[in-house]
Amino acid sequence: MTAVQLPEFSTTPVEQIPSIVSRLRSSFFSQKTRPAAFRLRQLRKLYWAIADHEEELLEACKRDLGKGIFEAMVSEIEWVKNDICFMTQNLERWMKDEKPEDMAWTHKFVSPRIRKDPLGVVLVIGAFNFPINLAFGPMIGAIAAGNTVVLKPSEQCPNCAAMMQLIMEKALDPECYACVQGGIPETSALLEQNWDKIFFTGSVNTAKIVAQAAAKNLTPVALELGGKNPAIVTKKADVQLAARRLLWAKTMNAGQVCISQNYILVDKEVAPTLITELKAAMKEFFPSGAKQSPDYSRIVNLRAFNRIKKMLDSTSGKIVAGGTMDADQLFIEPTVIEVSDPKDPLIVEESFGPLIPVLPVDNLDQAISIANETHATPLGVYAFGSKAETDRVLAETRSGGASINDGFFHGVIPTLAFGGVGDSGTGAYRGKASFDCFTHRRSITKTPNWMEKLLAVRYPPFDGTSKLKQYRAMGILKPDFDRDGRQKIGLLWYLITLGSGSASKGALRAALIAGIYLALRALMEGRIWKGLKG
Ligand code: NAD
Repeated sequence: MTAVQLPEFSTTPVEQIPSIVSRLRSSFFSQKTRPAAFRLRQLRKLYWAIADHEEELLEACKRDLGKGIFEAMVSEIEWVKNDICFMTQNLERWMKDEKPEDMAWTHKFVSPRIRKDPLGVVLVIGAFNFPINLAFGPMIGAIAAGNTVVLKPSEQCPNCAAMMQLIMEKALDPECYACVQGGIPETSALLEQNWDKIFFTGSVNTAKIVAQAAAKNLTPVALELGGKNPAIVTKKADVQLAARRLLWAKTMNAGQVCISQNYILVDKEVAPTLITELKAAMKEFFPSGAKQSPDYSRIVNLRAFNRIKKMLDSTSGKIVAGGTMDADQLFIEPTVIEVSDPKDPLIVEESFGPLIPVLPVDNLDQAISIANETHATPLGVYAFGSKAETDRVLAETRSGGASINDGFFHGVIPTLAFGGVGDSGTGAYRGKASFDCFTHRRSITKTPNWMEKLLAVRYPPFDGTSKLKQYRAMGILKPDFDRDGRQKIGLLWYLITLGSGSASKGALRAALIAGIYLALRALMEGRIWKGLKG
């Protein structure tokens, strides 16, 4: 069998960057990317170029991250192909003007609508851990929304980056879309340019650099950051299930996943069971050990390997499963560590690797307060327990997304909006959210000539208060609440709800009363009697 040939990775000379951006800006203003037909054609060509290079993309994922075929297909290649199909099947519908709801009747005469405008020239900066998904994913949204795009893939996965460039050059219009390769110098040069939006996926530290550069030109940003996500397992949870699901979430891509749980807070009564079950699941997933498994990825590079190793060396916790490492192979075994201190580095820092710290807690109150104190706005929260308990976790924490009774399942639904909150990110994408992320919702009205008489109210002279009265009659809303902030209830509604204030109970009572009324009326009209006879 011949080895798969991959293109060479080479960085883009920084002096070329201004001319690339200005070429894309001219193309944007040529209006080339506006028609749906153009966007659809670009996306469809991209689909087939990805499909035609699947073998090389798989090889690139293998060389860059040791990714197995299943993971590379599901989380990278099939993922972006699916994204393109979803976009192309829905794009024309999403592009249509929207009629806003809840307009005052007077405003309907000016036909208010919301047009979906592209933003302009956008920059997409990718992260290393899902090198294809996190680069092509947002780019697909930006193309669909009618922008011209510069993609800067992660230089930490050079084979994937080079393949994406080759695919873009084969499939996409070079006047509208470009791939810039490189690391800090090249990204810094890109950030000096003027953009209409910057979409960044990566670490919090780099995001601050990106946001500062963007602020100089008031450029909007989407920041997809992450880490430090808590999982909470109560004694009412199915502990065996929790162990399997959390192990899945921490062994995918060798734990290099922004939404995987960073640590597990477990009720101390079931902590020993959780650890036993984690070990059992490890045997089930990797019967000959993770190192031998073709399904278990490697750490991206020695720097990341050393960072994770240092974290493990610095913990005061006890390794209870795993713990082996091999720097030559960039291998770190899935490792379960029992920790007792909520300030342990394994809890407070993002491991972004296959470390599974387990911290026993007294109860759910303590778990929620540790989670909130460790990181108030993580990217994900994962709760295992009774319905009442998981409802409490949702109600008393904040996060970009959450999965109940699972590891990051919400994050693997390709069409569900995905994003952080606070310092885990800003802005969301995927599915329709990807289109919205790169679209400006432009409010438009058109004032007909015949309205001039009606509009006379707005022109001076205002003749004391007469025009003000007229203006108020044209649709100013009246409060439905009193001075104490209570909603005012009409007499009929009060009677129906008997003053309970509960709308759902009230609605039920209203339905009952209406039913009785209709039955009585039917009886009086003799319909029931006739019905029985007939
Ligand atoms: P990173 O911040 O090191 O790199 C991301 C990108 O920024 C790369 O393209 C890189 O070239 C560029 N970059 C790095 N340093 C820069 C600098 N000083 N100036 C300008 N550009 C710079 O992140 P990473 O190591 O690729 O990814 C890991 C981090 O990303 C983790 O914190 C993880 O949680 C987060 N992440 C978040 C998501 C998400 O969707 N929310 C997804 C994946 C990863």
